[in-house]
Amino acid sequence: MTADSPPIRRLADWDHGRLLDLAADHGTPLYVLDCDRVRENYLRFSAAFPDATVMYAAKAHTGQAVLSTLLDAGADIECAAWGELARAMDAGADPNTLHYTAVNPPDEDLDRAAQLGAENPGLTITAGARDTFDRLEERGYDGRVAVRVNPGIGTGHHEKVATGKDAKFGIPAEHVPEVAADVAERFDLVGVHAHVGSGVLHEDLDDHCRAIERIVEIAQGVDADLEFVDIGGGFGVPYREDDEPLDMQVVGERVREATDDLDARLKLEPGRYVVADAELILTEVNTVKEAPSSTVVGVDASLATMIRPAMFDSYHPIRNITAPDRDPHPVSVGGPCCTSADVFCTDRPVARPERTDVLAIGNAGAYGYELANQFHSQPRPAEIALEGDNSRIVRRRETIEDVTRVER
Ligand SMILES: *Cc1c(COP(=O)(O)O)cnc(C)c1O
Repeated sequence: MTADSPPIRRLADWDHGRLLDLAADHGTPLYVLDCDRVRENYLRFSAAFPDATVMYAAKAHTGQAVLSTLLDAGADIECAAWGELARAMDAGADPNTLHYTAVNPPDEDLDRAAQLGAENPGLTITAGARDTFDRLEERGYDGRVAVRVNPGIGTGHHEKVATGKDAKFGIPAEHVPEVAADVAERFDLVGVHAHVGSGVLHEDLDDHCRAIERIVEIAQGVDADLEFVDIGGGFGVPYREDDEPLDMQVVGERVREATDDLDARLKLEPGRYVVADAELILTEVNTVKEAPSSTVVGVDASLATMIRPAMFDSYHPIRNITAPDRDPHPVSVGGPCCTSADVFCTDRPVARPERTDVLAIGNAGAYGYELANQFHSQPRPAEIALEGDNSRIVRRRETIEDVTRVER
């Protein structure tokens, strides 16, 4: 397994026989995660940035199978909540290497992060509001911090993920020198951080690099001896069949150009890129209905299984793995939730589905299971992890008792 693995894994590249066996053994809907692919993606990404530190942004997929695979491959981990820190440590991460990015942090998260930092001086806490630094000081924290800056430029596939110009994230550029000077007096100021968007492909690369240049410029205005500048994540994968994958060598060169003047270490925090194409959802067709305007295909996965299409209008490839060679027929695929937002595709050609066929929904690894929910009292699905020829259940299917367990 090397850095020159294929830049994208399409649904057709998965072993259909193996997937059908898994669906038969474990039922549907079912998440299937390929840990080997997670490792390949991380290694390919890192190889493009030989002089940088590549941290995995845990929030894309916090499963233990993902975290331990990446720790094993040498990744550091970036966490954006206390729960993610706890799970990264459960997977074996050394807290002295963790980064915690605090966005409007609840008190409990700060309590625990400050405590963790007192015991592990290598922990880095990133904050993007003056009063978050005050709250850290109140908790006796005086360790490593980074200032999250807002470069005023956002990029990416959807306005809900373009964080770079959203005032919610980071200190406005014009306030950074003053805030940084104040922070440097109270803490060990080691870095400047920004994360500007998500789902960036080649057509967004110019904008993304402009944002990175701006981050570097802002960092250079900080009067401190910075150990690193962290440009966040945001690197995309092709969701549509005709989108081209990023050429990581090109991305690496472009980012190097944009960070040329930097004399601190470069850090990156890819999330989506590492896990997106390493996981899919298997779902069974339960209904086929001819309507005047389209053929409606009902499946057992829903927006509770994966909310991305409903929340971000995201496109996910769909393939009939029971009968991939049937003639393509335009279908709308939706789940059992009582909202018209519960659709995975509309009038899209799919090898004509019949009841009991198994469909695969691709690129489900990033923000997929992570955003799964229990709408309609639906237990969340099981997740199977593949590694070489082995497969194991890494999350059992929930039961109705899991859904009601906390009810009093
Ligand atoms: C979400 C997030 C990332 C990862 O973003 P991707 O688009 O998944 O690469 C990295 N850093 C921070 C601070 C984030 O919030």
